[in-house]
Amino acid sequence: MSEFKNFIEDIIDGDLASGKVSEVYTRFPPEPNGYLHIGHAKSLCINFGIKAKYNGKCNLRFDDTNPSKEDVEYVESIKQDIKWLGFEWDKLLFASDYFDVMFDCAVKLIKKGLAYVSDETAEEIRQRRGTLYEAGIESPFRNRSVEENLKLFYEMRDGVYEDGAKVLRAKIDMGSPNLNMRDPVIYRVLHATHHNTGDKWCIYPMYDFAHPIEDAHEGITHSICTLEFEDHRPLYDWVVQNCDFPKPQPQQIEFARLNVTNTIMSKRYLKKLVDEGKVLGWDDPRMPTLSGLRRRGYPPEALKDFCERIGVSKANSEVQESYLQSCVRDNLNRTANRVMAVFEPLKVVLTNYEGSEILSVEDNGNAEVLTYRDVPFSKELYIDRSDFALVPPPKYYRLKPDGYVRLKGAYIIHCDEAVTDENGNVTELRCSVVHNSKSGEDTSGIKVKGVIQWVDAKTSVDVTVRKLQSLLTDVVDGVTDFNERFNEQSMQIVTAKVEPSLLSAKIGDRFQFMRVGYYVLDKDSVGSKLVFNEIVGLKDSFNAVK
Ligand code: ATP
Ligand code: MG
Repeated sequence: MSEFKNFIEDIIDGDLASGKVSEVYTRFPPEPNGYLHIGHAKSLCINFGIKAKYNGKCNLRFDDTNPSKEDVEYVESIKQDIKWLGFEWDKLLFASDYFDVMFDCAVKLIKKGLAYVSDETAEEIRQRRGTLYEAGIESPFRNRSVEENLKLFYEMRDGVYEDGAKVLRAKIDMGSPNLNMRDPVIYRVLHATHHNTGDKWCIYPMYDFAHPIEDAHEGITHSICTLEFEDHRPLYDWVVQNCDFPKPQPQQIEFARLNVTNTIMSKRYLKKLVDEGKVLGWDDPRMPTLSGLRRRGYPPEALKDFCERIGVSKANSEVQESYLQSCVRDNLNRTANRVMAVFEPLKVVLTNYEGSEILSVEDNGNAEVLTYRDVPFSKELYIDRSDFALVPPPKYYRLKPDGYVRLKGAYIIHCDEAVTDENGNVTELRCSVVHNSKSGEDTSGIKVKGVIQWVDAKTSVDVTVRKLQSLLTDVVDGVTDFNERFNEQSMQIVTAKVEPSLLSAKIGDRFQFMRVGYYVLDKDSVGSKLVFNEIVGLKDSFNAVK
């Protein structure tokens, strides 16, 4: 956690200093209509970060006031993702549990003469709403008596009216420069079954009315949301004040949502990809969902580090995808064990080596505590084809005819002969091992500049590797439509030979395939049939000082 304060924390400091609040209470309010994505991680980090910094509290509240599209699957996935990030909520709540509170608030407003039942259609309301330059026109139902309004509102609740036949509107100001204050609809008739309350209700509160009530009812002090809600803040405050919630009343604070280049944050489009089978599911390792990033092998600490580094601001912007990757790489460089994998195998036969031995090779030189693993070595090995050049360019430090190279964690070898087929393609290298050059006990005196990875031919394991790219291609010629930008090349399946130590890896274990990139063992692995997802490459393409 950084010691620097963002603008939200400055506000909180002020509220604590002035005595407006004595403790800090935030909430994370997802609508259970999809999986959480990287954008939600930012909101989670802000809300739970404040809880941690101020020794406060943070609720997980499912915002399920909209009856049509909620799903238990989403509720469970959201809980799992928040836990994965390492956050602990204080209370687990469902906004639909407060329908009675919301109803009572509406009745209170009617009794105060601050809400009225209207028979206007949605279209009529829209037409009379006015524009940014023109005041709205008052509803013909605006001056119904309190008694009539109460009777009609109870009838709405009791199922007397069809969907859309009547609404409850707040009575605020049709001349307000803020369109949200022009008598907004706060309740509508909707005969729909709710996943939590069943058929108890046939009227449902609108978001702008429900949300402040949820916050105030829970005693939330700072209600943090994204910038689109800035214009709704006066209505938020109006609801809290006129429903007579006790002090301290919650305060809405807006911040800029996270956008990442070539990354989809629209739940609707993500769902479309899942429904159309374009991806393996919500947790496809290419998806920007938290479950996708988890399967991709992104460590939760790296995501939190990313959210911390990009900071919190009031100005919308787009963060480079490569910046996120660079946070992931930083983390893996410290935490992931190095292993050897060969993607384009080229056979090496050591003509002066007989039998086999088990070498002890360091897992990660950057780790705080060094650990070692067993790596079998014998007469026949594979190296990567790209590590041998028949006609080497200048300063080529890998293997070449009559050249030396060190096999990582093993010996120096010398290339005696490159065997070629009738087309001149190299099919096998015949090499000799320098016997007194074993890593850690080298007395050969031979200086080699190149160190390459290898695997033992007999014991190496063939695995499936998914090479991954963004789901979206770059914007070309102004084409921004997601459907046209779907990257058909985003997952390429290749094979590799890996050292046998990987047979004991567990799903989710992350590795650096030496000199290639970072990979994670995927849940599609069965027995010795291993499947790896590419997490991120080794090279950092992000340039902070552009
Ligand atoms: P959608 O409109 O696709 O349904 P949403 O933004 O409404 O998505 P919610 O489930 O309502 O999703 O969001 C829960 C919380 O996460 C909200 O407080 C919202 O402001 C925040 N959030 C959502 N997307 C982002 C983002 N890209 N950056 C930061 N915060 C976000
Ligand atoms: Mg929402």
